[in-house]
This record gives sequence, structure tokens and C-alpha cells, in this order.
Amino acid sequence: MDEHSPEVMTAIQAVIIASALCQKISKDLVGGGSILKSDRSPVTIADFGSQAVICKLIKERFPQDTVIAEEDSKELRKPDRLNILKQVTRYVQGFIPASSSEEVCSWIDFSTNSISDRFWALDPIDGTKGFLRGDQYAIALALIEKGMVTLGVLACPNLYVDIYQPHGERGCLFMALREKGSVQMDRNGLNKRTLSVSKVINPSAAIVTESVEPDHADHLTHQCLAQKLDISKPSLRMDSQAKYGILARGEVDLYLRVPSVSEPGYKENIWDHAAGSIIAEEAGGRVTDILGHLLDFSCGIKMVKSHGILVSNGILHDVVLKALGI
Ligand code: AMP
Ligand code: MG
Repeated sequence: MDEHSPEVMTAIQAVIIASALCQKISKDLVGGGSILKSDRSPVTIADFGSQAVICKLIKERFPQDTVIAEEDSKELRKPDRLNILKQVTRYVQGFIPASSSEEVCSWIDFSTNSISDRFWALDPIDGTKGFLRGDQYAIALALIEKGMVTLGVLACPNLYVDIYQPHGERGCLFMALREKGSVQMDRNGLNKRTLSVSKVINPSAAIVTESVEPDHADHLTHQCLAQKLDISKPSLRMDSQAKYGILARGEVDLYLRVPSVSEPGYKENIWDHAAGSIIAEEAGGRVTDILGHLLDFSCGIKMVKSHGILVSNGILHDVVLKALGI
């Protein structure tokens, strides 16, 4: 694969359409249209719409491929959710004219639960809580072949293009191909630039990024670790895999994700890390779990062999593992 391969063109096109759909919903509804799933996590009409348009495009271009994505249409098909389904359909029609509710549900349900030799992992909205707050969120799509992520695309519609101009242009696209590097583009897939991680060698000068949600990572342990490493700069809390993006472009040096005390045995989902991890690695970063093991995307939806996540600029990785007691 190279940057002109159909997989890359399709993935970029799909996340650009999905981002436009999510941004339209975000503008129109200001947090509306969300429901709680059976696990009490929120899902919005944007999650469903994003998954429908991306799955449709992938299945059209690569009918043999499997897609593993976060949502299914079960919640949408409940009789009391008819209004939500109507709204999802209306927004999808803005990008795929004349689509019916039945078609939208069937596109969402292209997603299966079983992994194969070659499959796509999709988080239609990573960081739904961030999306609802009007903060960061990402549309994350990765191609996994024989257990290895070979392509990752991440759209971050609310992420500033340049950290030195935080009030400037927003909307970034990240793309990485195995052994071919990571790039950032603007929201339209233009103005490509190659990314590389920071060169910070002294842990005390490092900037850490972590989740906003205290239930998703153990902020207290992160703080203790920072003290141990003499890190004085405050951590940058950000929703979604946008954290991988800012590490890949050298704005932060470490991304810590020690499992939260509220769910110490939590196992990460493949769609929450597949796209982001290749973007950080191909920019020169290192990605492991907090025990120093490579992430294993071959076990199914859950990364059952991985415990937490540690991402670094590569240089700082071993010193952080040591401080973690590994
Ligand atoms: P972030 O925005 O980095 O906090 O990550 C958002 C993702 O965290 C969501 O897509 C969820 O799949 C995932 N998540 C949900 N519960 C947990 C948990 N207890 N620990 C870690 N991640 C979680
Ligand atoms: Mg997610």
C-alpha cells in the first residue's frame, strides 16, 4: 500500500464525510440526540450516522473485508427510538441522498464481532463525551492485517491545526501507513505535512497527556508518576485518540493510560487504539501497554492481553516503564 492505494483513498474519503456529518449534528443539536446504551455509556445520532456512512463506503469498495465497529442498530430499532432513527436517516441523507432508515440500519450492521485475517476497526465517534461537551473527539478507522495495524486514519474535527495558534484553524486529519510514516492534513485532506515526535530526553521536561474522564484512567497514579519523574508541567487532558495525534506531532511527549481504580481490570477496545497507535509509531513514537508489551490487536474486540496504555516519543519509554515498576 502507498498513499494512492484504494484503501488509503477510501479511508480518507470516509472519515472526511463522517466528520462533516458529525460537525453538522454538533452545530445543529448542541448535545441533543443522545441516548444511553445498556452499559450506560452515551451514544448519539452522530455515532450512528458516522458508522453508517463509513461502513457503506468500505463495504462498497472492499466487499470481502470485515468491519468491526462500536455500534449496532439494535438500540435504534427499538420502537421508542423511532424519532432518533428518523434523525440519523435525515443526516445521512445529507451525504447519501435518498437513503432509507432500513438501509441506514443495514449499513451500521455491516459491522461484525469476529476478527479475520484482514479487517477494519472503526470507532465512529471516539470520545463521545467530548463530542457532547463540544470538546475533542475523533473518527478512528484502521486496517488490521494478520494482527498488525497497517493503515490508520484519524479525523479530529475540533483539534487545532497548530498548537501555537489554539484559537486558529481547527480540524485535522492524521494518516499513517506501516513503515511509510505519519502525516497530518487539513480537514479536506489537503496541505499534507510529515509528522515526527518530540526529541525530549529529560523526563522532567516532558508534557503528559491523559483522558479527561477520571473513569477512563487513573489520574492520581499519573500524578504520582509525574512527581517521581520530576515532571513539573501540568498534564494536558484531552478526549479521544486526538491524544495520539498531538504526541505524533511532538506537542506532548507521553500519553499515560493507567487503568482507573473504578475499573482496574478494564480491557481496552481495539477501535480505541488501532488508528492512534500506528500514527504515533510511524511518527517515531513507541506504543505499549503499561507492562511494556506491544499492543495485541489479534485477540478480538477486547485487547485482553494488554493492560493500560503507554505512549511515548520513544526516548522516554524505558524510564517511564521503570518508574511504573516494570
Ligand atoms: P478517552 O477519550 O481517551 O477517555 O477514551 C474514550 C474511550 O474510553 C471510549 O471510547 C471508551 O471505549 C473507553 N472507555 C470506556 N470505559 C473505560 C474505562 N473504564 N477505562 C478505559 N477506557 C474506557
Ligand atoms: Mg472510543
